[in-house]
Amino acid sequence: MVKQISVHYLMLFVVIRFTECASCEPRAASVTTIQMDAEIIAVGSELLTPYRLDTNSLFLTAELNRLGFQVRRKIVVGDHDEDLKDAFRYALDRADVVVSSGGLGPTADDRTREIVAELLGRKLKLNDAILRHIQERFRKLGRTMPEVNMRQAMVPEGAEPLENSRGTAPGLWLNADGKILVLLPGPPGELQPMFVNEVKPRLARRGGKLRLYTRELRITGLPESEVDQRIAPICAQHPGVETTILFSAGEIQLHPRLWSEDEQAALKLLDQIVKGFALALGEHLFTTSGETLEEVVARELQEHQATIAVAESCTGGMLAARLTNVAGSSAYFLGGVVSYSNELKSAWVDVPRDLIESKGAVSSEVALAMADGVRRRAGSTLGVGITGIAGPSGGTAEKPVGLVHIAIADEKNNKERGYRFLGDRDRIRATATQTALDMVRRYFLYAAPAKT
Ligand code: ATP
Ligand code: MG
Repeated sequence: MVKQISVHYLMLFVVIRFTECASCEPRAASVTTIQMDAEIIAVGSELLTPYRLDTNSLFLTAELNRLGFQVRRKIVVGDHDEDLKDAFRYALDRADVVVSSGGLGPTADDRTREIVAELLGRKLKLNDAILRHIQERFRKLGRTMPEVNMRQAMVPEGAEPLENSRGTAPGLWLNADGKILVLLPGPPGELQPMFVNEVKPRLARRGGKLRLYTRELRITGLPESEVDQRIAPICAQHPGVETTILFSAGEIQLHPRLWSEDEQAALKLLDQIVKGFALALGEHLFTTSGETLEEVVARELQEHQATIAVAESCTGGMLAARLTNVAGSSAYFLGGVVSYSNELKSAWVDVPRDLIESKGAVSSEVALAMADGVRRRAGSTLGVGITGIAGPSGGTAEKPVGLVHIAIADEKNNKERGYRFLGDRDRIRATATQTALDMVRRYFLYAAPAKT
């Protein structure tokens, strides 16, 4: 059974699907060996709208895992008293540690502090030190503290305040019948330093003995079913290791994960699995250490002392943006043009007008001419040309939406491929960009002159 959860990754503008490898289903054995369970509660009605996504839990999960806590559940709950009370009550019933984010602000909809105090039957008391800290913060900003901020200095009996170096709302650390409850503010810029400086040292002493060990492999050019099939026998040999698969445009990530008490043994086992995956995936695997494709391409370009320039049409500069994502890209990236109109394909990268007329702007011939044209103009070792139909309109029976031609040229040779990418405009453009980068990577695998 393949579980699928859709997660919209707004910042990346790609849809990443999270699935568990069909053949690497988490096994009961690996779950029961985890000593300490955690739950995360993301508080905020805005997180239940189509406009905001809870990302604090991603940070918290990574941190909790490192401290030896397995995150068993995440809850997103709006600012409603009964819903909040339920969420905290059930989470405290189940988990050893409960961490919440949000609802500690000064406004009427920030209810976390009051609800938790009520649920645990603790009185809220004014904490003078916190009040002074908040007043001081306002004074530094040249303002007096509004009355509503008094609420942030109210602390449930027995709770330890956690210092907020970036805002007014302190966090709270509570012990509740042997369970740990940590209340953190919602803004990531406040939550993260508070977790690192205040929560981590306190939790470090309490985590289970097991630690999570993981590796990150990335693959291009293979469909998900093929990846799953190829790795299935290796997963089957290692039932204690859970491998998750993440899909995005033109890329698949494999994350083998293992909880263990013995670091050496865990790393050795992961190495063995990664070697098995590498054999099964061949040249489609581009990193076993979580590098991005542009980082791998950057390394190859630098090792070969090569430079690159790009001419893009349907990707509108996305390839140039990916290439310049890497710090130090000026060492190999000379520049790029977005030659979107037919006129500028001729004027800027010397694609012959009659070629565009006879073959069409989206054709292998034009992609090759763009790659070669930009290479000559820039004086780079390599040129890349991309031309395609990203849609949703503009497709024909002969040249449908999703048809993209990508070419790469060096001084002597060139290579071109026509692709038919599926999906919406964003996905087609992202996949085309990824494929163009992969073409550069493969150039260095097969076609590049030997390293000097
Ligand atoms: P504040 O004093 O800012 O009101 P707060 O603790 O009350 O702090 P919220 O009001 O719940 O926090 O959230 C403030 C902002 O923090 C939200 O508008 C949102 O931008 C961000 N935020 C809250 N929760 C999350 C979350 N789970 N993931 C990412 N961002 C979040
Ligand atoms: Mg708030």
